Amino acid sequence: MDIILIIFSLLLPIAWFFGYRKGKVLSSESDSEQHLGLSRKYFTGLNYLLNEESDKAIDTFVSMLEVDSETVETHLALGNLFRKRGEIDKAIRIHQNLIARPSLSSEHRKQALMSLGYDYMAAGLLERAENIFKELIFDSHHKTSSFKQLLQIYQQTKDWQNAIKIAEQLHQSGHKAYNREIAHFYCELAEIQINDHAYKQATPYLKKAFVIEPQSARATLLSGNIYHVTGQFKQAVRTYKNLIKNDIDILPAALDNILDCFDKLGDHKGLLTFLREAIEQGAGISVILQYATELQSRENDHVAAKYLADTMIKHPSIKGLLELINLHLKHSSESGRPSLLMLKDVVTKLLKNKPVYQCGNCGFSAKTLFWQCPTCKSWGNVKPIRGIEGE
Ligand SMILES: [Zn+2]
Repeated sequence: MDIILIIFSLLLPIAWFFGYRKGKVLSSESDSEQHLGLSRKYFTGLNYLLNEESDKAIDTFVSMLEVDSETVETHLALGNLFRKRGEIDKAIRIHQNLIARPSLSSEHRKQALMSLGYDYMAAGLLERAENIFKELIFDSHHKTSSFKQLLQIYQQTKDWQNAIKIAEQLHQSGHKAYNREIAHFYCELAEIQINDHAYKQATPYLKKAFVIEPQSARATLLSGNIYHVTGQFKQAVRTYKNLIKNDIDILPAALDNILDCFDKLGDHKGLLTFLREAIEQGAGISVILQYATELQSRENDHVAAKYLADTMIKHPSIKGLLELINLHLKHSSESGRPSLLMLKDVVTKLLKNKPVYQCGNCGFSAKTLFWQCPTCKSWGNVKPIRGIEGE
């Protein structure tokens, strides 16, 4: 019912104005006929609204309102209102009706086109939206908004080449820096090649990502992965090492490969040095636990447990506590065992279903790493959750 009130309040003054103006312009003979005509249509529309037949009401009001500089804003407002309410088909009808009017000024036509573009976006009709925004990039007033919409379309359709072109245009216009986005688009192109095992073809995209964002953690990770998968373990380690200074939060994503590289190189000492350096630079619990595991296998459980207990004073962590309980369980007395098992059960339940990653921009959380946040669509903001329950 609220939409009826909104439409009614929007249209009532227009209807009055329209009737009043027509009344002034028309001769006294036709005046009463026209006024009667308007009133009849107006009340028919109103009747439809009151009967909640909003489709028929829109048709009636649209045909009733003469589209000119006075009423065009109302048409636009009404269309946008419908889109915001999710009634996209009605918004499209209103905006299409506006554009079809030959008397419409050029500026109003562009405004209506822009609105129709937003309608198509909301309806998922991306190809139609793309055509509209491509037309509007040549208009100085709508240029930036159109570029932004096109960028959104190309990201949704994973058309990364076009996304790069548009982001570069926006970047050059100086409105906002788009380095991070462009680097991610190149990484997307590289990943397509990597998934096809076309590692040589992936490398030029990663190089371009580094040119636009030299510290790109994703490009660093992907470069390291290529070296690892092609058996270039020394280069892989050297590349992964850059993650420590570029973005230490991403290091856990490379941890398995790092272990494999050192293993293949037979360089256990090198692994310990690598992990120690990462921990000193602020690496999270995954790296700390890995270091403890290495101590456990090379030294013994007691050395690993002591290291964990000492580290947890500075870095309290539920995951660390769970590992500590596991280590103590192996050597516990019969009397102490039930308490440790109960503690393990509680800690395991605490960790269960906890999200591992969170978007620093909108708070979206997940169990896997997303380079683009599925909720706010920003790039590179989803990171491992830090603190006692996370990394
Ligand atoms: Zn987000």
